[in-house]
Amino acid sequence: MKARVLVMVLDAFCSDMLSEKLTPNLKRFAREWTSVPAARSVFPSETRVCASSLASGCWPERHGITANYQFLPPDGRLFNSGLPEDLREWKKRLSEPALCVPPVPDLGRALAGAGRSLLTVAAASDGCCSLLDWDAAALGHTRLVVRTPSLCTPDGSHEDMVRAFGPVPAVREADGTYSPALMAYTVSVLLGRIDADMPDVALCWLPEPDMAGHLFGTRSMQHDRALSVIDEQCGRVMEWWEKKGRDQGWQLLFMADHGMDDADAQRDIPAALQAAGFETTVAEDGQAITAVMDGSTFRILNAASGHARLDGPCGEKPLRALIETLKPLCHDVFLADALLQRFPDPGVRPLSGARCSHALGPQIRFTLAGSDGNPGAPSGSVKIGFHGGCGKREMNPLLLAGGRLLRSRYESLKPSALPDIAPTVLTMLGVPVPERMQGRVLTELFADTGTL
Ligand SMILES: [Zn+2]
Repeated sequence: MKARVLVMVLDAFCSDMLSEKLTPNLKRFAREWTSVPAARSVFPSETRVCASSLASGCWPERHGITANYQFLPPDGRLFNSGLPEDLREWKKRLSEPALCVPPVPDLGRALAGAGRSLLTVAAASDGCCSLLDWDAAALGHTRLVVRTPSLCTPDGSHEDMVRAFGPVPAVREADGTYSPALMAYTVSVLLGRIDADMPDVALCWLPEPDMAGHLFGTRSMQHDRALSVIDEQCGRVMEWWEKKGRDQGWQLLFMADHGMDDADAQRDIPAALQAAGFETTVAEDGQAITAVMDGSTFRILNAASGHARLDGPCGEKPLRALIETLKPLCHDVFLADALLQRFPDPGVRPLSGARCSHALGPQIRFTLAGSDGNPGAPSGSVKIGFHGGCGKREMNPLLLAGGRLLRSRYESLKPSALPDIAPTVLTMLGVPVPERMQGRVLTELFADTGTL
């Protein structure tokens, strides 16, 4: 029978959030099928970076979306990859011949090349939803961005969705978390369209428990509630799967893009830069800092997982001053390899080792420190939960897989990471993996590797 694959992405669902009490459906699935408790995200563990790694099968060093917000050369304007117009410009820059980088593959294109189809139903940010199947319109795939009619393809598909499933419910609850009704609606659309279209691959993205974690922390009542809501929707998907999806050849993956951890300290980067002698300007929203010393200008993202870009001259004194300013506030400071060779520092890690070094990306990265390995937050932040850094919980997303092609009652202890998902999905379908995909096929999850 022809294999099909459904991938459910539960934003910021850390592997350790599985429990009998709050997520009994997912817990049961983990027991009965394959679980990968040591699954890893990519660094920086931010949503659009992860969405790009999931779709492309590549590390950020290759796909080039190396942050949610990034200062792009030559003028250092801050781009937001959550906005389609910024993302389009960013993608255009990534494809410029001057960068000498061949195009990056993705799941949608590989499937289309083999005459297979991809259905995307997503309720995440516009940028994230677009990245899941960037060329969906040109490839003839269906992409339903539940909240944004203009990003749905083919033309008229949002209207069709509303006709078939009713109007899109309110997106947020009064407390700022995504509404349970939005999750239920998204899953209804997914299951309805799977039945109607029978695609080869379906990709569904639910935006919680991410927001509940950011706003209230991962050990809050609101986060518990978000986990229960997500688990209930996953239970509906399992019910469909057990009743008929499995018999139709569907393999089922439940996964997350990254995890989440709670910050327990705030760090004041602008104050530290001023104390170190930088001439410092902070943008109104507090997110972008410009720090100048002796003719070197650093554009700094003031975030739990932050970075700095330098587009002019780089003097040794200002660079060392910036690094010495950041070190006491951070778990890790990374520096582009070329700069680290020029200015060696044993307390700084090479950016290439984190696999996110890119010509358009920042030359300096840092992760703010809380206590005991927890993330730190930028001063003044009202958020509690964070991801983006390389802390254990931030980098440990859920990964469960079940179906005829997959092992039952199996726990894989082998290392795996987000770029492995796309090549693994393609292999389950018998579609060739593009040569430039960097991920590994997770053959250890397969029930019988001889049949694949
Ligand atoms: Zn996310």
